[in-house]
Parts: sequence; C-alpha cells; structure tokens
Amino acid sequence: MTKTYRIAAIPGDGIGVEVIGAGLAVLEVLTGNSGGFRLEVTRFDWGSERYRRIGSLMPADGAAQLLAFDAILFGAVGAPDLPDHLTLWGLRLAICQPLDQYANVRPTRILPGIRSPLARVGPGDLDWVIVRENSEGEYAGHGGRSHRGKPQEVATEVAIFTRAGVTRIMRFAFELARSRPRKRLTVVTKSNAQRHGLLLWDEIAAEVAQGFPDVSWDKMLVDAMTVRMTLHPQSLDTIVATNLHADILSDLAAALAGSIGIAPTANLNPDGSTPSMFEPIHGSAHDIAGKGIANPVATFWTAAMMLEHLGEPAAAARLMRAIERVTADPTLHTPDLGGAASTRRVKEAVIAALTLAD
Ligand code: ATP
Ligand code: MG
Repeated sequence: MTKTYRIAAIPGDGIGVEVIGAGLAVLEVLTGNSGGFRLEVTRFDWGSERYRRIGSLMPADGAAQLLAFDAILFGAVGAPDLPDHLTLWGLRLAICQPLDQYANVRPTRILPGIRSPLARVGPGDLDWVIVRENSEGEYAGHGGRSHRGKPQEVATEVAIFTRAGVTRIMRFAFELARSRPRKRLTVVTKSNAQRHGLLLWDEIAAEVAQGFPDVSWDKMLVDAMTVRMTLHPQSLDTIVATNLHADILSDLAAALAGSIGIAPTANLNPDGSTPSMFEPIHGSAHDIAGKGIANPVATFWTAAMMLEHLGEPAAAARLMRAIERVTADPTLHTPDLGGAASTRRVKEAVIAALTLAD
C-alpha cells in the first residue's frame, strides 16, 4: 500500500501564499511520479486576513488541530497594518511553543550558480547548519511595563534559560555536529555581559561535550561571531545559539549565502511526539508581495527538509538535485539574486528538472 503523509499547509501572509503555492505544486509533481508515498495536504487560511475578519490569526485550538498531521508547511506571517509582535505571537510562536518544536535547524550553503556577496567566498567555503534554541531564552515572553508613558517608565524583557531547555538543545547540536563530516560545533553566547543565563549555556556546553569526545567544539561571543562568519566562513560548520542570537546570525548567514530568499528552516520536535514545522526563513515581504517575483527556492529547499524528516530521503535528494540544476542557470534567478525570472518560471523549471531526472 502507498504510504500517505498528512501535511498541514499554512501559507499565511504576503509572499508566504505565493511561495507555498509554488512549493505544493512542486511536491505534487515529485510525489506524483516518484511512487512509494503520497502527501495528503490540508490548507489552513490562518493569518492576518483572518485576524482582520474575526480578531484572531488562528483558532484557539489551532495547535491541537495540528496534532493530527505528520508535518506542517508554513509560509510567513506579518502585515504592514498589524504590529509585528501581534502577528508573530498570534501564529508562528502560537504553533512552535505548544508543539514544543524546540530545535530550529537552519542549513546554509552556497548553491550552484549563486554568488556570495563576499567576493572571495566560493561554493565550498560556506557550509553551515545553525541550530536555534526555539522554546525559551529571549522569546520566553516574560516581562512587563510599569508607569506607562511616564518619565519613570520601566520595561523588563526577561530571558529564561532552564537547565533542561539548554541541555536538550546542546545535546541536539552535538548530535547534529557528529553526523556531519567535519564534526565541529561552535557554541555562541554573550556570557561576558549576560552572566547568568549565558554562563549556564557555557557550563552546560562543557558538560554535554564530555559525551562527544569525537566532536571538536569551541565557544564564541556573538559579536565576534559576526566577524568570523564574514571573514573566515570556512572555519565554521555546526553552530548553536540562543533564540535571539541565532535568529540574527541566520539572517546574516542567509545573506552571505546569496539571498534570504533561498534559506530554509525546520522547527523540530526531535522526539516526534508532535509534528514538526518547515518554513522558509524569510518573512511576508509585503514590498514584493503580489508581484510574482518572490524567490521560491527557500520553500523548495524547505520542502526537501520536510521530506527528509518524514523519512523519504531519496525524494528529498531528488528535489535538491532539481533545485540545484535550476539555481545553476542564472537566467532562472529571481530579482533578489540579480536575475529577472518570476516565481512561476522558477517553479516550472524545477518541475521540468524533476521530470528530466526520471
Ligand atoms: P516579516 O515582517 O514577515 O518578517 P519583512 O518584510 O520584515 O517580513 P522579510 O520578508 O524577511 O522581512 O524580507 C526582508 C527583505 O528581503 C524584503 O525587503 C524582501 O523584499 C526580501 N525578501 C524576503 N524574502 C524574499 C524572497 N523569497 N524572494 C525575494 N526577496 C525576498
Ligand atoms: Mg522580518
């Protein structure tokens, strides 16, 4: 019997709708002619439009509804007329946190045909996976404001780091580093200035490292890390950092690898008790929404990560090969990469490359 995976698709806002549409079309062709398994896709209209209509981005039991699926494919959330914190907490974090998708994995490398903005960085020079702690830290949501609007107003934004939370992400990162050829991990903190939570990170890194004698690891302060990523990208492989730091570093990583329109991410619950969520790292990009020029490559790569996670590595590899065949041709680059191709043209080229590969 053909294996069926249930996929929840949440295109969301802005270009999220365009790139998820392209991603689903590619997945349909891929599964249609690969045999062996199929995807049963259910679409959810959650996002800013729903908020304007009925006052919430998703139903109160939205996260519970997602438990029925094997994976979630997410586009982007955000709208120019709504505060960013409202849309982020109202949808994306309202899924990640209850489903305990604590490991956010962000691979970055320079795909064939794509040039880094750094003149001396070529394809083999940048091949990283950034692991972002995705459940606590600076995004714990703790804090408050007093004396609103008064001169003595105080706002607190409390980062929460727990031994359990830091240990599990550190173990995950060491495991991932061990699975990669270079077996190298860089632990990023700011423990010279943040001397409670990030000293805990340093201590737990050293403890967990004991169990991974085959992984070579080092520590970096986040500020120095931006310099190292820019000047010595070859010296890095797997990277682990807090929720906030890794968010910032992964935008830098995406830009160094050519464009934010290429970079994928997986929000994993590694124990598999709840579905994991896959999304391009870019946002809703309303400046280009509706123009048909969003780069869909991040979403295609995201779809490949989802297939890998579902246990279909051969299909994931086929999709990656098709993506790379397309990026190798500069006439198939979207404007963010300096080209003139449309979302649709890139989608059709990937579909053609998939068909060719059969
Ligand atoms: P959000 O508020 O949802 O995070 P944003 O507009 O703040 O959205 P991004 O969507 O990440 O941030 O976009 C940042 C910039 O990168 C935008 O100006 C956009 O034009 C560009 N960009 C992002 N994603 C893509 C893409 N897939 N293709 C082309 N350009 C992109
Ligand atoms: Mg943004």
